[in-house]
Amino acid sequence: MLTEADFIRYGRQILYPDFGESGQERLKQSHVVVAGLGGLGCSASMYLASAGVGHITLVDCDVVVLSNLNRQVLHWEEDIGEKKPFSAARKLAKLNPTINITPLFEKITEDNVRDIIKGTNVVIDGMDNFETRFILNSECVVQGIPFIHGGVYGFLGEITTIIPGETPCLACIFPATPKKEGTVPVFGVTPAFIAALQVAEAIKLLAGFGNLLTNRMLYINGITMEFNSCPLTKNPDCKVCGIKEGP
Ligand SMILES: [Zn+2]
Repeated sequence: MLTEADFIRYGRQILYPDFGESGQERLKQSHVVVAGLGGLGCSASMYLASAGVGHITLVDCDVVVLSNLNRQVLHWEEDIGEKKPFSAARKLAKLNPTINITPLFEKITEDNVRDIIKGTNVVIDGMDNFETRFILNSECVVQGIPFIHGGVYGFLGEITTIIPGETPCLACIFPATPKKEGTVPVFGVTPAFIAALQVAEAIKLLAGFGNLLTNRMLYINGITMEFNSCPLTKNPDCKVCGIKEGP
């Protein structure tokens, strides 16, 4: 049930006809996992919290360092040395004390991913490496949980929404692990705009309105300000979501 304060706090979005009181109630009942509390995860979790998503799990295995601060906007100079999920959770609790936040200082592995995402409604990809993205993707396919992929490089960003059983999964899109990642250039605004789009997708998905960014990858080039999308197709031989031969 929405409280009197909820109607005030979320009043401007409840006014939106396709969303309304029922959309707000659905957000309040939702549980979203933010995987990674870097540039993408910090911005995404702020907008999830301010929109009133009732339960947010924050997962990261790193501590805050000075070189994070140009883009990881929930981590401040005073937080250097702190575990990222706790640094983020403390700020989010001040932004919106009416929601539940679960910080997990863990590396996402094949052994713990099942329990981390079990029973949740959406997983936001805030990772900086494909190894972990593939672990999340596989488990999202198994559990039927939507996975909103985002990635950034410099002033370039990409995003797509994966709905298990309906759209290509991450392994359909990237049959092999993209070449070794490492420390890549990135401006803070790039994860900010991709994260804002990831949360726009999450809100529509959870509240059940609008059209989703499915079956295509949106590419944003902040240098030329060109936005392009490329169609994506399911790989029938995908090792994660492909049709399995019977015994
Ligand atoms: Zn697939």
